Amino acid sequence: MSKTIDQALQNEVDKRRTFAIISHPDAGKTTLTEKLLLFGGAIREAGSVKARKANKHATSDWMAIEKQRGISVTSSVMQFDYNGHRINILDTPGHQDFSEDTYRTLTAADAAVMLIDVAKGVEAQTIKLFKVCAQRGIPIFTFINKLDREGQSPFELMEELEQVLGIRSVPMNWPIGMGRELSGVYDRMKTQVELFNGKDHSTIEVQKVEDYRDPIIKEMAGEFLYDQLCQDIELLDVAGDPFDYDKVLRGELTPIFFGSAVNNFGVQTFLENFLELAPKPEPRRSTAGMIDPMNDKFSGYVFKIQANMNPAHRDRIAFLRVVSGKFERGMSVRHVRVGKEIKLAQPQQFLAQDRDIVQTAYPGDIVGLFDPGIFRIGDSLSQGSDIIFDELPTFSPEIFAKVTVKNALKHKQYQKGIDQLTEEGTIQVFNTVSFDETILGVVGQLQFEVFEYRMKNEYGVDVQLQRMPFQFARWIITDKVDASKFRINSTLVKDKKGNHVVLFENEYAMRTAIDKNPDAQFLEMAP
Ligand code: GDP
Repeated sequence: MSKTIDQALQNEVDKRRTFAIISHPDAGKTTLTEKLLLFGGAIREAGSVKARKANKHATSDWMAIEKQRGISVTSSVMQFDYNGHRINILDTPGHQDFSEDTYRTLTAADAAVMLIDVAKGVEAQTIKLFKVCAQRGIPIFTFINKLDREGQSPFELMEELEQVLGIRSVPMNWPIGMGRELSGVYDRMKTQVELFNGKDHSTIEVQKVEDYRDPIIKEMAGEFLYDQLCQDIELLDVAGDPFDYDKVLRGELTPIFFGSAVNNFGVQTFLENFLELAPKPEPRRSTAGMIDPMNDKFSGYVFKIQANMNPAHRDRIAFLRVVSGKFERGMSVRHVRVGKEIKLAQPQQFLAQDRDIVQTAYPGDIVGLFDPGIFRIGDSLSQGSDIIFDELPTFSPEIFAKVTVKNALKHKQYQKGIDQLTEEGTIQVFNTVSFDETILGVVGQLQFEVFEYRMKNEYGVDVQLQRMPFQFARWIITDKVDASKFRINSTLVKDKKGNHVVLFENEYAMRTAIDKNPDAQFLEMAP
């Protein structure tokens, strides 16, 4: 491989940033995403992302949702250019769409932006998504939103991040007043103030200052807010964590930015700082060791499959994260699990603002492959070698239901459906040890709805789901598994690989079992 091509690949890798925004519904993710797209010129008007979101939830009918997905899938990945960077934002759906897909999507990101409502602080869904990011050790950047509203003090929020999420933080900027008093932010890194001007806060003025004590700030923001700013920054300088870039990259320290997405306040500086600090596409683990993006052979893995984009054709799209090398339309690649060469000849879709056919893609990019049913979640594709990227983790289900087939004559199709949908990662399946019952486990209610719908429409099987009271699943590792120990508020089952799993109705039952079985290990995910 010649030097010039390596340099070309290096340039493409260097300019890419692939990240997900994690937040609880209503924190302002759609608004922030839209502002970022506006900066990148990817959309022309505010409101276009929002309109799509509104459509998507206009009806709870799955079929209609899926129809919408034909459009909204383009927002599963949003790509735009800004200041010489190519940015890929991965969408992680809100609570109505929350499912294992949401978690898996995070494995395709190299960094996360954690968006927090200044008044509500760290919320339930933020915690879940944060945990997945923390497990992967990816850098997390925090944007505290809605500064134009009355909320908690910045110090309280920092404390909350540490108490609830266990992460230390370092403010990159600091609010000058909040809520109705909000007059600007002081940028600690660039030593400049951004002022929020005019009655309706419609203009933003940037002023270079000496440091936070600069009298210009007093002139602009008034004595009271100036004094408060000085006190706060002095305290931060003395008692706060210093900015340590290595800790940021390891996900041990989160840089915090304050702003207001809807007012476009603090968004641009956030974006610029983020692009500077966020990592370029990272290597991924595989059976052949770490695969570096600069490896000149193309490789990638499937992290999500979107089915039923068009029910008439049963088309599916497999989302592939490019890990190394250059992806080219029409190239031949090795489909490692199947052990075959396949030609990616059908139009590949590159999911940017609109569905386009992709000609080339580079590490960090997401490519949508038309899937005639040959891909599964976790599949690896590579040029000429047999590397397998680590199987995507399965996540501990939290909602369970017993499934039965209404018409016993349909048993064969039923089994086929269960097998395929499990492989695709739509649901997790467990079987009771004593009776022949099948239990489905999911992380989001929507997964049950998708399961029911697809069993009927793709396999012609009507299923009945009966919710079960369990809330936790733990894979048990022990010499001798004794089902009789798990009868009260719990039950022993097996996963599809035959591993033993205990389902618990509540945390107390789980704690008790762990205490009573000191020789056993209880794992949150399949071993
Ligand atoms: P999502 O559910 O996280 O995507 O949140 P949205 O972007 O839809 O925002 C939820 C609500 O918060 C909407 O009514 C937004 O207009 C509002 N919002 C977003 N950012 C701000 C902000 O900076 N200040 C205020 N006051 N409201 C905001």
